[in-house]
Amino acid sequence: MFDALVIGSGPAGLAIASALAQAGLKVQGLSPVSPETAWPNTYGVWVDELEALGLSSLLSHRWDDCSGYFGHSETSLNRSYSLFDKAKLQAYLLEQGSAVKWQTGSAAQIQHFSSHSHVTTAAGAELRSHVVIDASGHQPAFIQRPAKSDVAFQAAYGIVGRFSAPPVRAGQFVLMDYRADYLPADESTEPSTFLYAMDLGDNVYFVEETSLARSPAVPFETLKYRLQQRLAARDVQVEEIHHEEYCLFPMNLPLPDLRQPVVGFGGAASMVHPATGYMVGALLRRAPGVAAAIATALSASNATPSETARAAWQALWPSERVRKHYVYQFGLEALLRFDQPQLCRFFDAFFRLSQPQWAGFLADTLSTPELVAAMLNLFGKAPNSVRGGLMRAVGTDGRLLLQSLQA
Ligand SMILES: Cc1cc2nc3c(=O)[nH]c(=O)nc-3n(C[C@H](O)[C@H](O)[C@H](O)COP(=O)(O)OP(=O)(O)OC[C@H]3O[C@@H](n4cnc5c(N)ncnc54)[C@H](O)[C@@H]3O)c2cc1C
Repeated sequence: MFDALVIGSGPAGLAIASALAQAGLKVQGLSPVSPETAWPNTYGVWVDELEALGLSSLLSHRWDDCSGYFGHSETSLNRSYSLFDKAKLQAYLLEQGSAVKWQTGSAAQIQHFSSHSHVTTAAGAELRSHVVIDASGHQPAFIQRPAKSDVAFQAAYGIVGRFSAPPVRAGQFVLMDYRADYLPADESTEPSTFLYAMDLGDNVYFVEETSLARSPAVPFETLKYRLQQRLAARDVQVEEIHHEEYCLFPMNLPLPDLRQPVVGFGGAASMVHPATGYMVGALLRRAPGVAAAIATALSASNATPSETARAAWQALWPSERVRKHYVYQFGLEALLRFDQPQLCRFFDAFFRLSQPQWAGFLADTLSTPELVAAMLNLFGKAPNSVRGGLMRAVGTDGRLLLQSLQA
């Protein structure tokens, strides 16, 4: 019998499996593919987030020239951004979790008993462990959460390749280029999308047209068309395509039921930052705490899967974080109602907050009072059109702020 069974070998599965192994537990992993199979996505992160974890050696690229465009002029972000070397990150987590025993298969059913849980795979294999951690992504195998009909998705279409001329300045990283002046005057700027782009060196660039969040999702054809128009307006032609990225994931899935007897981690546990879509930094920050809570709960004799899961959920989603989650969800609902000019003014005001405030907002490292102070500060800096939008959001989505107070 294993102490813990981890389902899934994406970033969340490997992060929690390695943390559980580091906490001294006997861990089994279950994934349809080998945990060494290369992950499909490109993951970005701010350099200081990884430095704080002592993991900056896992980065492949780093940019100090980072900016955004929320009007005609450029906003310098004065903060360094990076891409993970995803092969290195994966190898690091596998090495930290070298004691984890991986088995190939898809989790199909689960049953809970007083001392353990019992997972059956689609092929009929039976696995037993004292606690199960479901890290099977945004459509999890077992995690239960309330249904939501109008989920907003982040969607993006990107190209890594060579171009007839640099699509952004050499050495530059562009977090968000919200300028819409490349669109013909008679074409609507809605749905609003932005360019996320970077110089990868050796005349290779990554350019991605992104919709921050929208329900229903902005179709890939629209994103592709917008990217082509944007490049054409700069007189830039695509000369070589090395890789195309199709990105689609939910931004505002409800929090899971925190009393269920299975633990969730990653997309399965609604850990995507509702206002940005980022998650990998949070996985690395939170995995050790969740693993420690599981180890402590299991050290009590006769702990049931429910009791162990309850301790893990509490470590992952303490009331303070739940409160902030509702505030972020409120922020996202407000953004979903903003048109393109309002979004530009909103982000212009957002990046005029002090860097500790905007960086802490993006990484979810502010306390609730700090988060509220940042939002009030933003309200103070924003023009009336944005303030009006935020006030209207209090009318339409104020329940999220109430939920925050009640958490
Ligand atoms: C294209 C793209 C780009 C992104 N970029 C960023 C970024 O730059 N920075 C960032 O922080 N976030 C980013 N995200 C968001 C988020 O970090 C990713 O969605 C991340 O991959 C989610 O990690 P996960 O491990 O929870 O799920 P996944 O990566 O989806 O992994 C789920 C794992 O579970 C396995 N699985 C599924 N079902 C079962 C089952 N029944 N039994 C066993 N195993 C199962 C799968 O095979 C897989 O191994 C991006 C997402 C996408 C799609």
